[in-house]
Amino acid sequence: VDYTAEEIKEIAQNENVRFLRLMFTDVSGMIKNVEVPISQIDKVLDHKMMFDGSSIEGFVRIEESDMYLYPDLTTWMIFPWEAEHGKVARLICDIYNSDGTPFAGDPRGNLKRVLSRMQELGFTSFELGPEPEFFLFQLDKDENITTNLNDHGGYFDFAPMDLGENCRRDIVLELEKLGFEVEASHHEAAPGQHEIDFKYADAIDACDNIQTFKLVVKTIAREYGLHATFMPKPMDGIAGSGMHCNMSLFKGEQNAFYDESGEMELSTTAYQFLAGLIKHARAYTAVCDPTVNSYKRLVPGYEAPVHVAWSGHNRSPLIRVPSSRGMSTRLELRSVDPSANPYLASATLVEAGLDGIQNELVPPEEVSRNIYVMSEEERTKAQIFDLPSTLHNALKELKDDSVIIEALGSHIYENFLEAKQMEWSAFRQTVSEWERKQYLELY
Ligand code: ADP
Ligand code: GLU
Ligand code: MG
Ligand code: MG
Repeated sequence: VDYTAEEIKEIAQNENVRFLRLMFTDVSGMIKNVEVPISQIDKVLDHKMMFDGSSIEGFVRIEESDMYLYPDLTTWMIFPWEAEHGKVARLICDIYNSDGTPFAGDPRGNLKRVLSRMQELGFTSFELGPEPEFFLFQLDKDENITTNLNDHGGYFDFAPMDLGENCRRDIVLELEKLGFEVEASHHEAAPGQHEIDFKYADAIDACDNIQTFKLVVKTIAREYGLHATFMPKPMDGIAGSGMHCNMSLFKGEQNAFYDESGEMELSTTAYQFLAGLIKHARAYTAVCDPTVNSYKRLVPGYEAPVHVAWSGHNRSPLIRVPSSRGMSTRLELRSVDPSANPYLASATLVEAGLDGIQNELVPPEEVSRNIYVMSEEERTKAQIFDLPSTLHNALKELKDDSVIIEALGSHIYENFLEAKQMEWSAFRQTVSEWERKQYLELY
């Protein structure tokens, strides 16, 4: 809703809101909060709320640390679950420098920059429909997280197998109170694994929704004595959690990917966007699958993609064209996982697609066979290459792709790369249980 500042003040008073939570997302994708009492509302609405940027990951150095929070009034929302000490409302904010210019290190602001480039090319919106998956783990009596999964259910199972069902139902109710249009919610393939899909929205709203969604899922799970995790591959031997991203470009009310008379009823724009997604796939993987653990998910056997290819028919490739047409014409990218910063991931995906459109790229042939049963030789012949196998390899691909670097902007790119190289280096220096099991006795 497009609230005015006056309307927000009125609602806050009528609803007896006691605290304002000002939210933004740092480069690593973490939600940050500055909470202020309602007495500060004028200051907040007048863009006078300052915070110290040097304390936030990937933001600024000490000597340039004063940042301002500019609340986006359309994101006003009263949390339904924290009424104990008075109601809490939140506003998602953009981050500005003290001279009034947008701060280049703000992932949400950066996505806005990329989207304005899209608008210059004649599109009005980039629509994003995420399918986040997550696991529910049990907490012990001291509320510590255990590695005990919460049930032994499987895909679309019903209670009593699915003990997470009540928790998931509560999450859905809570999301609906917050204005989410939940399209589906079900148990996923692995024990303890769930998925909740909500309606697509333009990229900024969709990313805000993903961040809010994670907060709601974790909050409600706690009330059930459970820990919800969006870690991509918490357990080996069972499926990991993805966050498939459904995407389309709109021109006004028209889905620009749909063309009644096009091949497979897809427009030239759709094919060019697809070609861009294929061309830059290895580089944006670093951003869309940004943790060491992400690459444990991208292995054969668990419905996660391993190769760069597309298909309108089978589910194994990186990009699938779901069969619905008209307004729902879309491309589904299956590599993205929920540890990704949604604002950064979206920025790289739009930029990759727009590169395809601007350079009129043509995608490779569709792959209608099951790629997992093809030999390496057959794959090479069909021009199917592999996704990066580790974070390290993905970062190398990112460094070589100026289009994806441009999508992040130099400030975010440099911070992201540095943080991820440190993460890889820390991982490289650890010796795992698997290695001891494998080698300790043998050598
Ligand atoms: P799957 O076939 O992979 O299970 P789902 O039906 O679970 O797909 O999810 C479809 C997702 O795609 C939903 O989030 C939905 O809102 C979204 N979606 C539908 N139409 C569009 C569109 N035009 N652009 C982007 N996303 C869309
Ligand atoms: N959990 C699978 C993944 O890692 C996806 C399952 C599905 O198709 O929904 O991506
Ligand atoms: Mg799923
Ligand atoms: Mg899907």
